[in-house]
Amino acid sequence: MATNRTFTMIKPDAVAEGHTGSITKLIEEAGFRIVALRKTRLTPDRAGEFYAVHRERGFYPDLVRYMASGAIVPMILEKENAVADFRKLIGATNPANAEAGTIRQLFAKSIEANAIHGSDSDENAAVEGNFFFAATEQF
Ligand code: ATP
Ligand code: MG
Repeated sequence: MATNRTFTMIKPDAVAEGHTGSITKLIEEAGFRIVALRKTRLTPDRAGEFYAVHRERGFYPDLVRYMASGAIVPMILEKENAVADFRKLIGATNPANAEAGTIRQLFAKSIEANAIHGSDSDENAAVEGNFFFAATEQF
């Protein structure tokens, strides 16, 4: 069976409120292995680059401001069917629509400050993981 990788980051609202440990625990309990992990911060330029796919959306300037507003915890995760299983674990973008027990249902405050990111494809998972971590930091 194929084991593969996804990329996540705990977003500024959830880090600031002290949910890093609780969220990491849920991730490990769901069967994901942590390949790389760091606490860091994005500049507005780097946040804009990370979410460049949304450049034309009305919410983009606010999203960039929010993502650069505080510390984040990026991680690379490994599990069979990692991308799809992780999207299921975090729940819908808007926490009002997130299923019970999902990370966003538990910790997100709004559609913008929604606690956590999850890659949407294997290809983006690789690009996003390499955005934060050198190959030598991936264990
Ligand atoms: P992510 O890419 O962070 O995992 P997602 O894939 O569930 O989230 P996207 O459509 O990629 O959702 O949106 C990226 C991020 O932009 C969302 O997680 C959220 O923080 C913000 N966002 C999305 N839609 C809106 C909106 N309508 N209003 C405000 N912020 C939004
Ligand atoms: Mg997305």
